Amino acid sequence: MPRYFIWTIGCQMNKAESQRIASYLDSVGYQVAAAHWEAELVVLNTCVVRRSAEDKVLGTLGLLKGLKEEHPNLSILVTGCFVNSDIEGLKRRFPHVDFFFKPGAYSELTGWIQKQGIYSALSTQHSTLRWKTSSPCAFVPIIQGCNKFCSYCIVPYRRGRETSRPLEEIVCEVNGLVKQGIKEVTLLGQNVASYGNDLPEHLDLADLLNELNGIDNLARIRFLTNHPSDTSQKLIQAMASLNKVCEHLDLAVQSGDNNILKAMRRGYTVEQFRELIHTIRQHVPQVALSTDIIVGFPGEAEEQFEHTFSLLEEMRFDVVHVAAYSPRTGTIAWRKYKDDIPPEVKKERLIKVEQLQADVAAEVNSAYQGKVVEVLVEGNKKGKWHGRTRSDKIVFFKSNDDCSGQLLKIRIKKTSPWSLQGEVEYNS
Ligand code: SF4
Repeated sequence: MPRYFIWTIGCQMNKAESQRIASYLDSVGYQVAAAHWEAELVVLNTCVVRRSAEDKVLGTLGLLKGLKEEHPNLSILVTGCFVNSDIEGLKRRFPHVDFFFKPGAYSELTGWIQKQGIYSALSTQHSTLRWKTSSPCAFVPIIQGCNKFCSYCIVPYRRGRETSRPLEEIVCEVNGLVKQGIKEVTLLGQNVASYGNDLPEHLDLADLLNELNGIDNLARIRFLTNHPSDTSQKLIQAMASLNKVCEHLDLAVQSGDNNILKAMRRGYTVEQFRELIHTIRQHVPQVALSTDIIVGFPGEAEEQFEHTFSLLEEMRFDVVHVAAYSPRTGTIAWRKYKDDIPPEVKKERLIKVEQLQADVAAEVNSAYQGKVVEVLVEGNKKGKWHGRTRSDKIVFFKSNDDCSGQLLKIRIKKTSPWSLQGEVEYNS
């Protein structure tokens, strides 16, 4: 049986899509290989959001070229954000790649597999796929692309405009996953909060959450990532009222300075963002919030960086993902602004944010000390079980029992900025 290897670079969205491709390849008779050099088919799922990610893609393509020279029968397929609309140009640049297909274009993949003539390519009906995962958690893409065009972001150019999957299709998929033992789903998209805008029925994410909340044996629902401007009152109400929707929200602010937010084309002010967080915390008091920050955006003087720093001090997020700005060719910021913040200043600011966040997270997490939390156990590493709380905190604990996939009560004995440690609470 021919073997496949999927090489995934990038975000959860890519990981979810790779999982889906793997399920499809399994269903048509391929077997997973332990390493790329053992495979007859390599699928490279790419990311170009940051320059470092694109460099990694180029390096991997170079490595695969060498592998193909040694094994001419190897087929190389490339998908993800690296695949732009100029497929012919990509083919000329990378003649060793057999097939390029756009992210989420499963019909193109199935068409290519069918053309190989060896396998009866089955349907990619999501409900019929068996998911290859030992985890009780699954990622479910619900919307592709983005209409926002933030000035620094390449995603709308590569993933295209927003395309939501029909609600019934998602519900059907989640029902299928639950039948296979999945207990938690994370709904994914570049901006899930705009789910449904392009659907004729005028549905939105709150409607979808409502439907999914009714699925028996599904324990938890998460969703990410959200654009603050699309995070509606209706969505906040749904989070507050639906028992399976976790108290965890990812809301990227990117900067705490209004001039920088304007240059980024984020579409909200610091004051509006602050108000939104206030409303969310009022309605969902236990909510854990994470955010993204870009430091060193063009024109970010010391004063403007300080505005970001103060906002982070004030908001006390549970998690902050921080990145140094790097211009992406083809974006508005790349065309309009000079990358004028020296790399050492960007690095200094990045470290400053990371240090602040380590202190904030240590304090936030210390509130869990002695508390009993519900943990969905995802696996075992080096003799310790690990899982997450509804608020997305990673918890480690020891037990001689097989705890995989179980929802357990854990009493927290030790906290750190990054994780919690505890013991099973047998009497609760
Ligand atoms: S919301 Fe902005 S940053 Fe996020 S994917 Fe869309 S364009 Fe990119």
